[in-house]
Amino acid sequence: MANLIERWIRDDIRALSAYHVANPTGYIKLDAMENPYHWPDSLKAEWVEVLKQCELNRYPDASGQDVKNSLRACFNIDELQQVMLGNGSDEIIQCIAMAMAKPGSTLLSPEPSFVMYKMIATFVGMEYVGVPLNKDFQLDMPAMLAAIEKHQPAIIFLAQPNNPTGTLYSEADLREITEKAEGLVVIDEAYMAFTDTNSLPLLGEYDNLVVMRTLSKVGLAGLRLGFLVGSQDWLTEFDKVRMPYNVNVLTQASVTFALKNFDVLKRQTDAIKKERNMLMQRLEGIGLEKIWPSEANFILVRTPKDTAKTIFDAMKEQGVLIKCLHGAHPLLKDCLRLTVGAPKENEAMFLALQKSLQTLLRKR
Ligand SMILES: *Cc1c(COP(=O)(O)O)cnc(C)c1O
Repeated sequence: MANLIERWIRDDIRALSAYHVANPTGYIKLDAMENPYHWPDSLKAEWVEVLKQCELNRYPDASGQDVKNSLRACFNIDELQQVMLGNGSDEIIQCIAMAMAKPGSTLLSPEPSFVMYKMIATFVGMEYVGVPLNKDFQLDMPAMLAAIEKHQPAIIFLAQPNNPTGTLYSEADLREITEKAEGLVVIDEAYMAFTDTNSLPLLGEYDNLVVMRTLSKVGLAGLRLGFLVGSQDWLTEFDKVRMPYNVNVLTQASVTFALKNFDVLKRQTDAIKKERNMLMQRLEGIGLEKIWPSEANFILVRTPKDTAKTIFDAMKEQGVLIKCLHGAHPLLKDCLRLTVGAPKENEAMFLALQKSLQTLLRKR
């Protein structure tokens, strides 16, 4: 068997490790930036009625027209821009990369950032170039511009705000990169619900810019719906590599329904934003080395030297699952990422973190 695998599976795929998802059973789950809130029962009942109308024997609407119309209305998408749907924005990243992966072409992204950029570059056989952020997790502009000049990337991914750092890049930097890049710039606004910044207005100004968003962090992670906004010229090409029925009937019906009731989701994400700001203040003064400002629904913190994994394990022991990023990138040394959940979950997380830190500090 092993020699079959070695002979036929690509070397670069064998060298990868699969995207790791921790088993969350029994834990307070604060590791994946999910919205913790549910819908009111009355809304759930209405939704079930919508689902009853779905024809599971039929293929979904291949163009997803209803979903696109709802997205346009909900997010004020300019009529000059087109919309493409993905099975999560992960799939959109894949479509863009597949369409642009000429032999020897490069995908560039600041680091640390969303890990799927690099993984997908590998899947499609593109060269990947990661340009380290500076210590404040801002773009290192001289390094970015030098790398763009040197590698002439086909695609640049910029997550705004960035995951796993939670930080925002300045609009001036985004503009300068888009102006200097000859290839396509993709601004990934996965956390749009938790920040006031919005790159959609930039679209009309640059031929080489598209904006990607997702409903996952808003509260619909289970449905898998991402979308890309940009000009007809780009989206026509990306649409060719999209699987025709990539967004299933239940997702299409549910998304249209959810966007009609977007005020419910908006109240939830506003509550998460408030919780985030309170939590950020509370985290001061419990012995953390650093807390980065966040424009997303998570907070990145640095623990005392060489304690991140111990604290992560201790918190897990206390029933709280977060994300340990120590080892993921040199700049993430001793870092933990805390997803902001419901007040009770945040309380449990805070207490577990505080207790783990105290225990450690006492031992020193
Ligand atoms: C979570 C996340 C995504 C992926 O979202 P899906 O739509 O669930 O695939 C994309 N980009 C960033 C920066 C993310 O954090």
